[in-house]
Amino acid sequence: MLRKELGINYAGDLLHHYPFRYNDRTRINKIGQITPTDEYVQFIGTLVNIYEEGSGRKKRLSATLYDDTGKIELIWFQGAQWMKKSLKENQHYIVYGKLTFFNGIPNISHPDIDELNAQTAKATMSPVYPLTEKLKGKGLNNRTLGKTMRELMQKVTPTDIPEILPANLLQHYKLCDRYHAIKWIHFPDSVEHMHAAQFRLKWEELFASQLKIGQLRVQHHVQPGWKFETVGDNFNNFYKEHLPFELTGAQKRVLKEIRIDTGTGKQMNRLVQGDVGSGKTIIAVMSMLLALDNGFQACMMAPTEILAQQHYASIKKLLEPMQIPVALLTGSVKGKERKEILANLKDGNIRIVVGTHALIENTVQFQNLGLAVIDEQHRFGVGQRASLWEKNKRPPHILVMTATPIPRTLAMTLYGDLDVSVIDELPPGRQEIKTVHRNEMRRAQVMDFMRSEVDQGRQAYIVYPLIEESEKMDYESLMAGYEQVKIFFPEDKYRIAMVHGRQDQDERERNMKRFKDGEAQVLVATTVIEVGVDVPNATVMLIESAERFGLSQLHQLRGRVGRGGEQSYCILLTGNKLSKESTERMTTMTSTSNGFVIAEKDLAMRGPGDLYGTKQSGTFRFKLADIIHDTHILEQTREAARALLEADPQLSNPQHAGIRNVLLQQATATNNWSKIS
Ligand code: ADP
Ligand code: MG
Repeated sequence: MLRKELGINYAGDLLHHYPFRYNDRTRINKIGQITPTDEYVQFIGTLVNIYEEGSGRKKRLSATLYDDTGKIELIWFQGAQWMKKSLKENQHYIVYGKLTFFNGIPNISHPDIDELNAQTAKATMSPVYPLTEKLKGKGLNNRTLGKTMRELMQKVTPTDIPEILPANLLQHYKLCDRYHAIKWIHFPDSVEHMHAAQFRLKWEELFASQLKIGQLRVQHHVQPGWKFETVGDNFNNFYKEHLPFELTGAQKRVLKEIRIDTGTGKQMNRLVQGDVGSGKTIIAVMSMLLALDNGFQACMMAPTEILAQQHYASIKKLLEPMQIPVALLTGSVKGKERKEILANLKDGNIRIVVGTHALIENTVQFQNLGLAVIDEQHRFGVGQRASLWEKNKRPPHILVMTATPIPRTLAMTLYGDLDVSVIDELPPGRQEIKTVHRNEMRRAQVMDFMRSEVDQGRQAYIVYPLIEESEKMDYESLMAGYEQVKIFFPEDKYRIAMVHGRQDQDERERNMKRFKDGEAQVLVATTVIEVGVDVPNATVMLIESAERFGLSQLHQLRGRVGRGGEQSYCILLTGNKLSKESTERMTTMTSTSNGFVIAEKDLAMRGPGDLYGTKQSGTFRFKLADIIHDTHILEQTREAARALLEADPQLSNPQHAGIRNVLLQQATATNNWSKIS
């Protein structure tokens, strides 16, 4: 069970399942000195006033603890009976727990409470481990995991945890040895040792990532690629005659970077990041024309069928006047049509193909593929991208496009091996999307507003959260929401389409299309619409339970409106009571529309974990390191990695065997992703 839930395979892995925080039980607080900013507190005091309140399921136990400075309430909602029996009035206790304020009065519910004696008074930092809901449900808790860990740790000797970092680095950066780092990360005997362990292990993680990036960088810069020598008629004609607008400065710059890259004779691996609506499509189109000018074919891959169709339609329209045929290849292109496309790709009659991951299947062969554009990169598995490399004798140039704004620190860490272009400018004349935060009490008003927009001929999205762990509940609330929407948009007058993850692909695409074609005025959806969908007539984005979304996700969703000429609106609907973080997220959304500002904020608030779909894209996952707060370690390790690779590029020095093995293990774990990102 542990294996599956936490990805723990061996005792060795268990050792690397680190606590994410500690209960600091080294300090005793004074009750009279606590402030609302205190979170976890520990008191020594005398217990009085033990009494039960309520009855049946509402029954609870409370008691008062006092020391020489003040008093505080302790409360138990569960196991009241049992607690009542085990607690004694006028006895001294040591109490640890999370402080909550109820009407301004502090209390602790379900504290850790022990009678005060020599044993319990011993100061410790006790580990708190990450646990999944499922594990908790099966009765495994922090106490039991901690116990297992302690037993394991008692058997472990320094030879079980050999050093992997070269001695000179340990010395130069004042890192503690690996055995002690592991020992102290679980059971620090002092705050200093806890810090030493954290520093060392973070350092090791970041160092490994920097070595990896360094190696990839070297690899990428020697990989021979196709040389695009000329800027020819396709590119020039399009630019002069058919470009429907003036390129922004940022677009021009990025195109120039691509032209330089593809002219070097080495393979390009470039990431273009630009906020939603910044105009990435035209970059893709013009890069493809460049490939055509040099005798190559080009392809563009999108993560979903609907997005592929959308790109296909807009690219076809752009290139129609130049009579460049464009093909669409997705899973639903079948039979004779598919056969024909495949044959024409192979003998080179089709020069540009747009599609889904259907493009990377083995049956798809090109005459001479020179460029592959990948849109909305984080939706693709890593292996899928790598297989594009095999489509020609030399790998095609790769252009990855993402709307996820990646803050600089993160880009350096995760994409240090890719060259990054940024479109940091929106096309002129965009109207700002009006964003407001409303709570549940104003739902009717919000719906009325939405209906008035719809009555003026516009369309609206209503998005519900869907988070895996509570999928069933979310599904039910989506359905309930759908019923409610029907009250405001009666079926005799309005048509509502719905898309969600439980529908099969076909049904989803069909409903999506109804909305896209304007047949349905309202789209009720889960976050499946998050990326890239373009319906210019939609002017309202209503996000239900907005407090449950992360900032970047909210921003992506908001980007679905404001794509036409009309004033657009984003309404964040939340419950009445919000946590501090949720309030902060809503304020950020209503006060800025700058994707980079939002991404920085998101990163600072949440950490990079799930933000960038790291699981899927195979980028680095750190257990301890936090690239926002640990930038100084990041810099140290980058410097150290650079020096080490310069001296020993293959890591063949016996001193480097330890770290080389770590990299090898990581490489097998993450498979083949490194080729592209
Ligand atoms: P995204 O970066 O989100 O993929 P798109 O490429 O879909 O953005 O562009 C969004 C819209 O902006 C499209 O309708 C496109 O035609 C338009 N657009 C792109 N570049 C410019 C520009 N330089 N000037 C005016 N409109 C532009
Ligand atoms: Mg796009």
